Amino acid sequence: MIIAVASGKGGTGKTTVTSSLAWVWDREVTAVDLDVEEPNLHLFLKPEILGREIATIEVPVADESKCTACRACADLCQFKAITVLGSVLLTFPEMCHGCGGCIAVCPEKALSSGTRELGEILWGRAASRIGFYMGRLRFGEAMSPPLMRSVMAKLAPAAAANAPTDILIDAPPGTSCPAINAVLPSDAIVLVTEPTPFGNHDFRLAHAAFRPLKKPMAVIINRAGLGDRSVYAYCRSEHLPILAEIPFDRRLAEAYSHGQVVAEALPEMNRVFTELAARLREWVPAESVRKEVLGA
Ligand code: SF4
Ligand code: SF4
Repeated sequence: MIIAVASGKGGTGKTTVTSSLAWVWDREVTAVDLDVEEPNLHLFLKPEILGREIATIEVPVADESKCTACRACADLCQFKAITVLGSVLLTFPEMCHGCGGCIAVCPEKALSSGTRELGEILWGRAASRIGFYMGRLRFGEAMSPPLMRSVMAKLAPAAAANAPTDILIDAPPGTSCPAINAVLPSDAIVLVTEPTPFGNHDFRLAHAAFRPLKKPMAVIINRAGLGDRSVYAYCRSEHLPILAEIPFDRRLAEAYSHGQVVAEALPEMNRVFTELAARLREWVPAESVRKEVLGA
C-alpha cells in the first residue's frame, strides 16, 4: 500500500507522523520525502545515504540558423516557455515543463533536446530496516512536481524488487499543485490536523482540494486537547474516520526539537503509532494504485 501523509498547512505534525509510522511499521516499508522544497524527514530518520543523483528535465535548445519563425512551437506550448517575436525565437527554460512537444512539431528540426537541473534525489536506509528516498529542489528552481515524479520513478524498481514493501509519502503542506502531485501516487490519504480554528480552516481546504481525486481519506488529530471541537464536528459531518489522536504534550515538542522520532523517544507514543499502523492496514483498500505506480 502507498499512504500519503498530508496537511492543509505546515507545522501540523506531518513529518512526526510519517517518521513515527515508518519506525513502528512491522513489515518492509519505504519512507519518501516528497516535500522537496523543504525536506526534513531525513533529520528524524537519519538514514545512511547510499546514493544520490541529479534529476533533470528535458528542455528545448534552439538552432536559430534553422528556425524559419513559423511559430508552430510557440502555438503548441501551453506554458509560454517558447515564443517568436518577429523573426526572433525566444526560449524560457525555467518555464518549460519538459513535454517535448515543441521539439516534435518543429518542421525544420531547429529544436533539440537539452536539460535543466531540477534538484537531487537521495536514497538510503534508516535503522537498517526502513527504505528511504527524498528529493531536494535546486535553489532557484520553481517547479517541484517533475522532481517528485523523478523520485517516485527512481524508487519504483527497488520497491518492486522488495515487494511487498509499503510506502509512506511525506507530502508537502497546503493545497497547491505540489501537494496534489505528491498524493497522486497514493492508495489513500491521511490528513494531519490540529483541533484549532486555524487548523480546521486549512484542514477543510485540504479535504476539499483532495476530494476530487476520489481516494479514501482519514484523519489524524495532532495536539489533541488543544483548541476546540470544530475539527471533530467537521469529520463527523463528512464521515471522515479519525484514526488516531496524538495528545498535546510538551515532551513531543521536545523530542521533535531534538530531531528524535517520537515513537522511538516516548514508549506511550510508540503504542499510539503501533495501533495507528494496525488501523491503517485495516483501513487502506486493495492495492490497485500501488500496482499502477510500481508495476508490482
Ligand atoms: S518542451 Fe513543452 S513545455 Fe517546454 S517549451 Fe517545449 S512545448 Fe513548452
Ligand atoms: S517550430 Fe521550429 S522553425 Fe518553427 S518557430 Fe519553432 S523553432 Fe522555429
